[in-house]
Amino acid sequence: MLRFYILAYLLCLSYYAHAWGFFGHQKINYHAVFLLPPDMLVFFKPHIDFLSVHAVDPDKRRYLLEQEGPRHYIDLDHYGPAPYLSLPRDWKTAVAACSEDSLTRYGIAPWWIQVMLERLTRAFMAKDPDKILQYAAELGHYVADIHVPLHASSNHNGQLTGQHGIHGFWESRVPELLADTEWDLLIGQAPYCKDPLGMIWSRAIQSAAAADTVLHTEKILRKQFSSDQVFAYEERKGQLTRQFSSAYTLAYDQLLNGMVERRMRASIEAVASLWLTAWVNAGQPSLASLSRQPYSAQDIVSLQQLEEAYKNNPIKGREHD
Ligand SMILES: [Zn+2]
Repeated sequence: MLRFYILAYLLCLSYYAHAWGFFGHQKINYHAVFLLPPDMLVFFKPHIDFLSVHAVDPDKRRYLLEQEGPRHYIDLDHYGPAPYLSLPRDWKTAVAACSEDSLTRYGIAPWWIQVMLERLTRAFMAKDPDKILQYAAELGHYVADIHVPLHASSNHNGQLTGQHGIHGFWESRVPELLADTEWDLLIGQAPYCKDPLGMIWSRAIQSAAAADTVLHTEKILRKQFSSDQVFAYEERKGQLTRQFSSAYTLAYDQLLNGMVERRMRASIEAVASLWLTAWVNAGQPSLASLSRQPYSAQDIVSLQQLEEAYKNNPIKGREHD
């Protein structure tokens, strides 16, 4: 049985190695654009492809930089029971209470979102089109990550409960099977967020609360399926790939009662809300005349380094999937 799990893990790991998967992150940034007011849409809509493609840069950077990994998760269960009151929400107070090394060890996602929000706000103030797009794309990534239950749990890939591969199962396989055909990702308008840090923390705590359900539900389902029904050779990106079977994936989604869709919708809404908030806090600069500059030689070198690291390097630091 153990060998079966290890085999299943190895087979699935390489296909699902990124939070929300590349598919999910790109979809979240893409759909977030449509929640923006016309004064932002005028600049964001023409660059919707850029915002989608670069939604996954932070995951690629995990193969280049050691310090990138902890920005994508926080093991909230490390801090005792919910609502984790031993952990100060404010960075400086948290560092004073727990030390920066310790915080980094268990993940810094909520605080890193604040850093990115600040960077995006300053980019809007400077009316810098390239930085606005890059920071918006990357902020979208981190905000989406915090909505994934297993990004708020130390049992991030079911490694403590014999459920290796569940990370990618929840955040990649389920959306890839259902998002385009079954889910409603049209949401309306983005609200301004008066208290970004409070909102980010509440989403992180929701994720941590859902992590047990994500894990427990799959345990229950596994008992109802024989091992040859759990995995199947099915098409993925035009290739026949051994992966969690459609039947198993659909059954899991049903047992979760739409949780993955709800978290994806909440991600889209939060991403758009924080983009809007950065723009409003920057004084609502006019974006109508902005246009993206061609990449400089230095930009091209940086992008090449990112791609090469992603393709050739092992991940640096902890795998969270
Ligand atoms: Zn990530």
